[in-house]
Amino acid sequence: MPAIDSEADLERLFERLRTVEAPRSLRSKVLRAVGLSDSYFTLDTPLGPLYVAFNERGLSAVFHAADASEFERRFEREMGRQVGVVASPPQQLAGTLREWLAGDRRHALRFDLDGLAPFQQAVLRKTLEIPPGQIRPYSWIAREIGHPRAARAVGTALAKNPIPLFIPCHRVVRGDGRIGRYSLIGPQAKQAILEAEGVPVTEIERLASNQVRYLGSKTTHVFCFPTCRHARGISEQHRVPFSSEVQARAAGYRPCKVCRPAV
Ligand SMILES: [Zn+2]
Repeated sequence: MPAIDSEADLERLFERLRTVEAPRSLRSKVLRAVGLSDSYFTLDTPLGPLYVAFNERGLSAVFHAADASEFERRFEREMGRQVGVVASPPQQLAGTLREWLAGDRRHALRFDLDGLAPFQQAVLRKTLEIPPGQIRPYSWIAREIGHPRAARAVGTALAKNPIPLFIPCHRVVRGDGRIGRYSLIGPQAKQAILEAEGVPVTEIERLASNQVRYLGSKTTHVFCFPTCRHARGISEQHRVPFSSEVQARAAGYRPCKVCRPAV
């Protein structure tokens, strides 16, 4: 028998198996056994138990649900395919997920975003670049992925993030600097997660209500998003607030190359 490397190979195999009438349940069992279908388990997190789906390409969904059947129905509705429970989670994956939740990124996580639209994939991959303890506005993602006018669509793509927490959509905030909505559980959860990651949420909200969107350094003449590690290092007497990129540039400041508040 030839090696099974893709779903297309499997389709061909099932085409042949049709002569022996492979039942649907066997089909999904075989798909799961070779990693081409999705399995799930529950993971205890600081936000309560979450349902975690995965396949051979990586994590495919992380949802909060009242029970297993609600999770399965939501997965099938949103992803358009079936998912089956595993008796015990793969140890390596569960271990890496716990490390990530504790802020330890030594081991990479893989994500299966193949079923999503290219724009949403680009948004989610860019979101993965935002370090813990930092936040960026929707417009930053839009510009970075080459669609500078699509900030609203970025918000929609993030609201439909199938893998919240691990693809950190909670680190993306409104254009006015306020924290804004969060799909996983609610805005309080978003603030709690950001605080746990080291974002000074109260300070950020205070800056936002004073129309401060960037902080500059009198010594380097560089301006940053307020949570950039460079901005966090500016001493109080050298810190200059700016409400817009235009204002910062007019004062002779240039954008930070690390957090890229402008190009
Ligand atoms: Zn910066």
